[in-house]
Amino acid sequence: MTQHDINEHTRKLRKLINTYRYQYHVENRLEISDDALDSLKRELFLLEEKYPELITPDSPTQRVEGAVSKKFKKIKHSARMLSLQDAFSTDDMRAWETKIEKFSGRHDFQYFAELKLDGLALSLVYKNGVLTSGATRGDGAVGEDITVNIKTIDSIPLRLDLFGARPHAFSKKILELSDVEIRGEALISKKGLVRINKDQEKNGENIYANSRNLAAGSLRQLDSRIVAKRSLEFVAYDIIFSKKDRDALGVLTHAQEHQALKDLGFKTDPYAKAFHNLDGVFDFHASIIEKREAFPYEIDGVVVQVDESDIFDRLGVVGKTPRGAIAYKFAPQEAITRIEDIVIQVGRTGALTPVAHLTPINVGGVTVSRATLHNEDEIGRLGVKIGDSVIVGRAGDVIPDVRKVLTELRTGKEKNFHMPVKCPVCGAKIEKDDGGVIARCPNIECQSRTRERVYYFAGRNAFDIDGLGPKIVDALFDNGLIQDASDIFGLTRDDIAVLDRFGEKSADNLIASIKKSKHITLPRFLVALSILHVGEETAIDLAEHFGELSGIARASYDDIVGIKNIGEVVAHSIVDYFKDNRNKSFIERLIQAGVEIARAPKKKLGKLTGLSFVFTGELTSISRDEAKALVRGLGGDPSETVSKKTSFVVAGNAPGSKYDKAKKLGVAVLTEDEFLKKTR
Ligand SMILES: [Zn+2]
Repeated sequence: MTQHDINEHTRKLRKLINTYRYQYHVENRLEISDDALDSLKRELFLLEEKYPELITPDSPTQRVEGAVSKKFKKIKHSARMLSLQDAFSTDDMRAWETKIEKFSGRHDFQYFAELKLDGLALSLVYKNGVLTSGATRGDGAVGEDITVNIKTIDSIPLRLDLFGARPHAFSKKILELSDVEIRGEALISKKGLVRINKDQEKNGENIYANSRNLAAGSLRQLDSRIVAKRSLEFVAYDIIFSKKDRDALGVLTHAQEHQALKDLGFKTDPYAKAFHNLDGVFDFHASIIEKREAFPYEIDGVVVQVDESDIFDRLGVVGKTPRGAIAYKFAPQEAITRIEDIVIQVGRTGALTPVAHLTPINVGGVTVSRATLHNEDEIGRLGVKIGDSVIVGRAGDVIPDVRKVLTELRTGKEKNFHMPVKCPVCGAKIEKDDGGVIARCPNIECQSRTRERVYYFAGRNAFDIDGLGPKIVDALFDNGLIQDASDIFGLTRDDIAVLDRFGEKSADNLIASIKKSKHITLPRFLVALSILHVGEETAIDLAEHFGELSGIARASYDDIVGIKNIGEVVAHSIVDYFKDNRNKSFIERLIQAGVEIARAPKKKLGKLTGLSFVFTGELTSISRDEAKALVRGLGGDPSETVSKKTSFVVAGNAPGSKYDKAKKLGVAVLTEDEFLKKTR
C-alpha cells in the first residue's frame, strides 16, 4: 500500500466504525458482531500505532469509554483510572513479557490473573471507614458522581468492617486509614439481562445489547429506585494506596490486596490466583474458556498483572494503560481480514470449491489463512471480490467461512472472480449439477480428485489410519509410492522410512496403524470409496439394508431407490459407481490387499425408531457427530437432506439453508433443548 492508500484506508475504517457504533449504541441494533467490531477497531489501532501522524482527535481509538455526563456532578479521581491493553494469543502475551523484562531489567515475574468481568468500572471512596462517594470512570481523570445509585447495590458495604474467620493483620490496619479507595466492576448477571430486557420490551423501551450496557445504563439513571430494582452486583479488584500507606501496611502484592478486599467484606473473583510464570497463566486462561458459558456473568478474558506492587508501580504507565497489566482476551469468533486471492480446489467427487486465501488472522483461538466460499452462488450472494476486506468466522470445529464483505473499505482495485470453465488441475471441461449450483471436474482420474480421495480414505470417517494425514499422503504420491488408496496396504517400512520427517520408529508406527485399519465396518468402507452423494448416513442405510458389499455392488437402480432416504439421484450415482470397471478393480485390489469388511449389524430399535432428524447450525451442548450417534442409538435416522419425509429439523445457532427448506416444506423445527428432551 502507498501512503495515500494507507491514509484512505484509515479514513474509511474510522467512518465504518462510527457507523456501526451509531447502530449499536443509538439504534440498539447489531449489524455485525461485537467481535467483528472489536476487530475493526484493532486494525485501526494497529495502523495508528504504526503511523501515529494519522491519529485524529475524533478517531474511535481516542474515545474514552463513557464520557462525563452533565447530568451528574463530577468527581476527580485520586489516581487516574486506566484502561488495559489487549492480548489475543500466547504470542501477544510473550511479547508483553519481553517488553516488561526489557523495561524493568528483571526476568522472574510473579503474575496475578483474574477474570475480566464485563461490567462498568467504579471507584468507591471510604472516609474513616464510611462510604462517602462512588463514581464512574468517566474520562479516566474525572468521573460522574453516582453515589446515590451505588448505595442501592447490596454487595457494597456502606461501612468497612472485618469479615471472615481470620482477617489478615494488614486488613485490620486498613480500617484505621482515613482514606481508602476501592475499585471494581458493577455487574448484572446474564439472567438479569434477560429478565430486564423482557420488562423493557413489555414497556416499549430500549433493549440492552449486553450486560455491560445494562450495568452502565442502570447506574446512570437519575432515579435510584430504578437502579435498586436492577439487582446489580459489585466485584472488587483493587485498593488504591499511596506508596507510604502501602509500605506502612505491608501489603506487597496484588494477591494481598485481594485478601484485604475479602477481609473487608467485598465480593472478589474466587478464581483469581498468582502464577510463577506465563505457562501457568495460559493453563488458567484455557480452563476459564471451558467454564465460560457456565459463569453467571459475562466475562471476556483474563486480566494478568505483575503481582509485586513495587515492580508494578515502577513499570509505570504508557499512554492510558499501565505497562504492568494486560487484558488477555478470549479469542474472537469473528474477525476482519483481507482476501488476497481466490483459488479453486478440486475435491474428491470433482466438486470445485472456491477457497479464499486470507491475510492470516486469529479466529476462535487459531490462525486462519483459508476460508471456504462454498460455490459460485455463495460468491454472488456475498458479492465478494479479490482484495476485499471481509468478516470471517469459525464456529466450533467447522471450517472458517466468509460472512460479510465490508464494501465500505473498497479501494476500487478489487478484482472480480469467475469460476473457470476447465478444471484448473487436469483441464477437463467443467460440468454443472444440483441445478447448476455445483461445478464439477468429471474426470475420475484427475490428479486432484485422486489425492483428495486418498486423504478422505485415510481420514476419520473412513479407514481412520492414524498418522496418515494429507502431508504424508502427498509425500507418498510425490515419491511415486502410491497411485491410489489400494497401494497404501502394500507399503513397507523401508518405503516409508526414506521419506522426509520419518524415522524408523514412526515408520513402524504407521505400518502398524495401516495394518490395524484393514478390519473395517461396511458403512466406513462405503464412505471410503468416495461415491458421489454417498455420505455417512446413506452408507449406514445401505449397509443396514443389504448387510454386505456384494449385495450393494449387484443391486439395480430399482433395488436401491426408495430405501429410507435414498432418492433417484443418489440411487443412480451408486449404480453408476459399481458399473465402472475402474471402480470394480479398485475394490478388488483392496480385498486382495487383505481388507476385511465386517457384516453390518442389525439395526437397533428404540424410542426414535421411524423418525428422521436433520441438523443445521451449531449445537452448543454436544457436537453434531454426538447428536447423530444419539439418534442412531435410539433407533432413529440422522439425515443430511431435508425432504417432506423428514420428521424434524434441529436448528442450532446460525442455522443454514436446511432451516429455510424445513420452513418451506412445513417440517417441524426443534431447538437444541427440545431435541435433547426427546432423547431422554
Ligand atoms: Zn480435474
